[in-house]
Amino acid sequence: MTAILEQTKKHQDDYPLIFERSKAGRRGAVPPQANLADGVNLEMLLGADNLRVRKLELPEVSELDLVRHYTGLANRQMSVDKNFYPLGSCTMKYNPKVNEAAAAHFTQLHPYQDPSTAQGALELLHNLARDLAQITGMDAVTLQPAAGAHGEFTGILMIRKYFESLGELETRRVVIVPDAAHGTNPATAIMAGFEVLEIPGNDKGEVDFAALEAALGTHVAAIMLTNPNTLGIFETRILEISQRARDFGIQLYYDGANTNAIVGRARPGDMGFDVIHLNLHKTFTVPHGGGGPGTGPVGVKKHLEPFLPTPVIGRLDDGVYGLEFDRPQSIGRVRSFYGNFGNLVRAYTYIRALGAEGLHDVSSMAVLNANYLRVKFGQIGFETAYSRINMHEFVAVPPKGMRTLDIAKAMLDHGIHPMTVYFPLVVPEAMMVEPTETESLETMDAFVEVMDTILRRAKSEAGYLEGAPYTTVVRRLDEVTAAKRPVLTYKKLAAAK
Ligand SMILES: *Cc1c(COP(=O)(O)O)cnc(C)c1O
Repeated sequence: MTAILEQTKKHQDDYPLIFERSKAGRRGAVPPQANLADGVNLEMLLGADNLRVRKLELPEVSELDLVRHYTGLANRQMSVDKNFYPLGSCTMKYNPKVNEAAAAHFTQLHPYQDPSTAQGALELLHNLARDLAQITGMDAVTLQPAAGAHGEFTGILMIRKYFESLGELETRRVVIVPDAAHGTNPATAIMAGFEVLEIPGNDKGEVDFAALEAALGTHVAAIMLTNPNTLGIFETRILEISQRARDFGIQLYYDGANTNAIVGRARPGDMGFDVIHLNLHKTFTVPHGGGGPGTGPVGVKKHLEPFLPTPVIGRLDDGVYGLEFDRPQSIGRVRSFYGNFGNLVRAYTYIRALGAEGLHDVSSMAVLNANYLRVKFGQIGFETAYSRINMHEFVAVPPKGMRTLDIAKAMLDHGIHPMTVYFPLVVPEAMMVEPTETESLETMDAFVEVMDTILRRAKSEAGYLEGAPYTTVVRRLDEVTAAKRPVLTYKKLAAAK
């Protein structure tokens, strides 16, 4: 604990908190006085119980202090706008700034205003849902869910309602999930009240077909699959899998968080899937990370349409857009209003800017870039977990005797955000790399050079790797204490001691 306090103290000396920059009476903005009618006071307006009794302890700084403070903090962070960010299974790619300009057009809109005065916004949502349905090969799409995991939950709840409507919910208790699945898949199935059955992978990195086949039956409600899976490998027997599942009336759920490997080229609906969620904050360039708002639309086939969350945005014959609430089989609302509207505008802007041809290029470049890096990684001494053509990402392991965590730390000194580490769990020391389609050849070559430098230095200099990073604001943190005893509120350090 003392080591952490010392590090924190040093950090604060170098970079005072906004509270420590405060000077009594200094102001960045002065709001106008409340314009009250004669004889009216705040107590009458708000009620005595709602008046503040203690002074609000906000830092008192000028606008310039404030801007410098936050810009300074941003400069200490890794971000897509500043650094290469090859985070596998997360698709951290370029966030086009034109998306922001488009989203800013809608800031005057209020979700409570009458739909007749928000026709443009509703048309955009309607068109986006239509485009996503077309891209995924589904019949209808809801835009409400606020994250990938939230989309999964929405999708599995619809499957649940579907079996309820058939009178089969009592018997269909199991959701099948391969062992390489994203952790949110089994969590979703459990949250929705199902039991999870895990299926192992085979030596090619695909689902073990025989094990899957043996697990099928009318007690199974759904199979949740990611394709390409989290090893970046396309399931070559996908059509057989969906056919066998269909024989038992099992619903097929497609985790489409990262669809950049197939977008514009292959459609989960055509592979026989019944439900898919997309992460607009991965595949469709909406910024993500840092807990910001996500967006996880869900597409379904016709038989699941009655279960979509309400309201559904509909287009009447006269071209007017409206909200349908009267859908008796709906699972209900899963998010206030229509989802994270600003993100939906961003994704729509991206899709319209690229068009069908552009989206087709996305998947070509995503796969080409990842395979380029996979081969380069092999040349500088990494092993790849499965030696075959992969899709938009690949899994590498470091040379014997080196630890993935140490290499990840060393990358920080070179201004590169680490790849995903220790995931998927099925590969020990996994390093999961996704360059994305938006990085240039030069950036990828520079990345390979950095990785080569790190490996060489690790071999020639004892202790180097274990000591990294050397140049970051804080170095190795006590992650256990940070997780178990997090300090989340501001206290003046001197007073805390
Ligand atoms: C990111 C991801 C999710 C979860 O998405 P969130 O928006 O973080 O909830 C689910 N599945 C896969 C394969 C993912 O990569």
